[in-house]
Amino acid sequence: MPITGIYGPDDFANRPQGQTITHVAPARTGPALPMPSLEWTPEVERATAPLYERLKHVIPPIEWPLMAPTIHAINELKRARNAVILAHNYQAPEIFHGVADIGGDSLQLAVEATKVKADVIVQCGVHFMAETSKLLNPDKTVLIPDSRAGCSLAASITGADVRLLREKFPGVPVVAYVNTSAEVKAEVDICCTSSNAVQVVESLNAPTVIFLPDRYLATYVASKTDVKIIAWKGACEVHERFTGDELRAFREADPSVQIIAHPECPPDVLAEADFTGSTAHMINWVRERRPKRLVMITECSMADNVRAELPDVEMLRPCNLCPHMKRITLSNILESLLTLGEEVTIDPALAERARRSVERMINLKN
Ligand code: SF4
Repeated sequence: MPITGIYGPDDFANRPQGQTITHVAPARTGPALPMPSLEWTPEVERATAPLYERLKHVIPPIEWPLMAPTIHAINELKRARNAVILAHNYQAPEIFHGVADIGGDSLQLAVEATKVKADVIVQCGVHFMAETSKLLNPDKTVLIPDSRAGCSLAASITGADVRLLREKFPGVPVVAYVNTSAEVKAEVDICCTSSNAVQVVESLNAPTVIFLPDRYLATYVASKTDVKIIAWKGACEVHERFTGDELRAFREADPSVQIIAHPECPPDVLAEADFTGSTAHMINWVRERRPKRLVMITECSMADNVRAELPDVEMLRPCNLCPHMKRITLSNILESLLTLGEEVTIDPALAERARRSVERMINLKN
């Protein structure tokens, strides 16, 4: 069914100018290590050869000697720091396949973050993901290589907005997409990802649910459940740019092409897709179906990451890059491991409340 109502900042005359209150600590938390050599040597070539074997379909040979020394140095530093690198599916292939220990979507990273044994977690993704890792690992050092890596969805809503929604709809439970700040997570009943959004909404056994902040994911969830959905006017600046016309043009050019799309896209885009799913669901779909020619309607690095794994799948891609994800680079990952910056910190009382919303999602039975 269509969403029942949609609200945004302009709908509340008494809206305070809320600021998210979680932070990145500017200070280093440990002594900086010396900068390693970044020369392309026979030893670096040998050590990184297995990685290039995986990346050769998406990184030209001429570029590898420029990247490999930094990749090698990062992998050495991980051992020295007892660190792990978590990377979202939207990270560039040299990060996702070159230095990450764990890759995946927000849910996979959130779950894996709870199992990590290392002292240091380097989050290669955007800030709300690093916050989620910190929530689940309060005693570990969580670093983000560039704290300016934000998200249009997380920036669209504050904790004060959630309180205003609760005043307007007393007793209606609130579900927050993980693409929100810890401050927002602290105000809601439970979190969800695009992998489990329908399941989370239905788990509340309520006739109506407030679902925030992505209006398009809310619309998609509403189409899959009888629960009435009240939405927020947020959107992903990457996925909302795709259009149904673009998808139709791909099909007209090649009727055999398969098109899969992320549920953060507008409804006219999803209507044209052969399959809709989270990044993890999309990857599984490609692994199982092995289409000959494929269009992935999501952030473009994901197509590279899938192609590195499945080179027989030809990717046609309308390319929408996430500028926030692309703030993370090999250079600033190296810097992060050398200096132990920038460290993500969250007020402990707020973290306690936010953690409950994330853990409630993780503990949901499948
Ligand atoms: S792709 Fe969209 S939802 Fe993901 S981090 Fe970028 S702006 Fe946020």
